[in-house]
Amino acid sequence: MPENSQNDLQADAPAQNVGSPYSINALKASLHQRGFRLTAQRQKILNIFQTLTQGDHLSAEELHVILQRQGERTSLSTVYRTLHLMTQMGLLRELEFAEGHKHYELNLPSPDQHHHLVCVQCNRTLEFKNDLILKMGSKQTEAHGYHLLDCQLTLHVICPEAFTQDWRTLQRGWRCDKSLKLAETSESPG
Ligand SMILES: [Zn+2]
Ligand SMILES: [Zn+2]
Repeated sequence: MPENSQNDLQADAPAQNVGSPYSINALKASLHQRGFRLTAQRQKILNIFQTLTQGDHLSAEELHVILQRQGERTSLSTVYRTLHLMTQMGLLRELEFAEGHKHYELNLPSPDQHHHLVCVQCNRTLEFKNDLILKMGSKQTEAHGYHLLDCQLTLHVICPEAFTQDWRTLQRGWRCDKSLKLAETSESPG
């Protein structure tokens, strides 16, 4: 199927077929049409996201550590810029789970699009799918004559561990045992 049929009018459309980031050539062609290039570094970052376990999300800091382990000499500020650009390219989704702390994941097309439950106490994140949310999002967007780029619902919740500990009285930085263990193995705070 030819890709370059009537896409000229949709310069700001997301790469909806990124779900086949598996076909790198198709992806490159689609990006090229919209004036973007999939440089070696962006491709490397894309590969890292593709190999994540489902449900994992990376912050810029976490990605920076992974890149350094792979021998890439990239500054953290370049990683920030690249992640932001790759979001604009439609390759990644930017997720704002906690105040001032962004995470990223692959931007998959609708059957694989999902939403998140985020515990406001320990930041633990669960994913769920729901087609109705996307339908409502599309409908609202079209009603205003806008173009939908991404539809994500983030529910701010209290996890069962925090809830059973009377979460209203817990300190702001409280974390359940599970999330403490996770934090030890991933990144230092900041
Ligand atoms: Zn997710
Ligand atoms: Zn929690």
